[in-house]
Amino acid sequence: MPPTPIATDPPLLSVRDLRVTFALDEGTVRAVDGTSFDVAPGQVVGIVGESGCGKSVTMRAVLQLVDRPGRIASGTILYRDSHGAEIDLTRLPPRGPRMRAIRGAEIALIPQEPMAAFSPVHTVGAQIIEAIRLHATQSGRPVSRAEARDTTIALFRDVGISIPEQRVDAYSWQLSGGLRQRAMIAMALSCRPRLLIADEPTTAIDVTTQAQVLELLRDLRAKYNTAIIFITHDLGVIAQMTSYVVVMYLGRVMEQGPVDQIFHNPQHPYTRALLRSIPSLYGETRTALPVIAGSLPHPFNRPAGCPFHPRCPDAMEVCATATPKLLPVADNQAAACFLHHAEAEA
Ligand code: SF4
Repeated sequence: MPPTPIATDPPLLSVRDLRVTFALDEGTVRAVDGTSFDVAPGQVVGIVGESGCGKSVTMRAVLQLVDRPGRIASGTILYRDSHGAEIDLTRLPPRGPRMRAIRGAEIALIPQEPMAAFSPVHTVGAQIIEAIRLHATQSGRPVSRAEARDTTIALFRDVGISIPEQRVDAYSWQLSGGLRQRAMIAMALSCRPRLLIADEPTTAIDVTTQAQVLELLRDLRAKYNTAIIFITHDLGVIAQMTSYVVVMYLGRVMEQGPVDQIFHNPQHPYTRALLRSIPSLYGETRTALPVIAGSLPHPFNRPAGCPFHPRCPDAMEVCATATPKLLPVADNQAAACFLHHAEAEA
């Protein structure tokens, strides 16, 4: 894979101190608790963590798709639009015209389960044609149905769907899992987004198709210079696909840095535990996150201090009462851990 930029260009997306809470009868859950990271144009960033670590909620916040009782409690999500203007997405009404125009046309999502994303009562082609025409109208350059259909067929060809002229008229339930995922990628790319969010894009498909889909996303990034955020629990996907990694645990960033540094010189005990437990990143064991001592605390029993301290082999007294800040540990690499910064108490 050609190297992707590491935050040398002005960021396309800059998330700062983002907090997302869910007010439930049992109490308030801090699903995202002060997350910060950048994505440069054309960069491929991986967000990795166990289920419930806040990675998908962070991305839903970027797309302004956090459903009630969730809400963005604080923080900023700065997006540099196609005209170079910096917009704080948290300030836009989620269903307003500006956010609707950004969602899909500039920032697109490949969801985990494409079956749920396509309506079963319309052909996949009709749904993509509709999306193309809607965004073309919103951007003041309307296109005819025939033009949008041609674009859809070309996209199907781009994403490796054979006999696209026929498949464009298929319903999602008539396609295999792999074809549905490819059609979903075609949908996500239909408006040439500048940022693609791929939420566990290979979870619902078999291993051979997984490899093909990853290859396809690599090619498309190279062809269109689309920035991609990969949300995954699969460190093998992170190693293959990304240039920069954000490691999340209980809604907080534990460590972030260039993929080579994170894999060869991890500085946070949680990152080390993840990596130590994988016998081979490229072998058949590349499936789910390995088992780490202890279990993820229930969201209502969030530990005080460092969220990882009940499972951390290096925990010290301070870790149970004070929360470490994310501070630099090497070039372009930061970790939230008192082992590196005794003064990191937040
Ligand atoms: Fe472990 Fe303490 Fe570092 Fe948290 S701050 S990861 S508990 S050593």
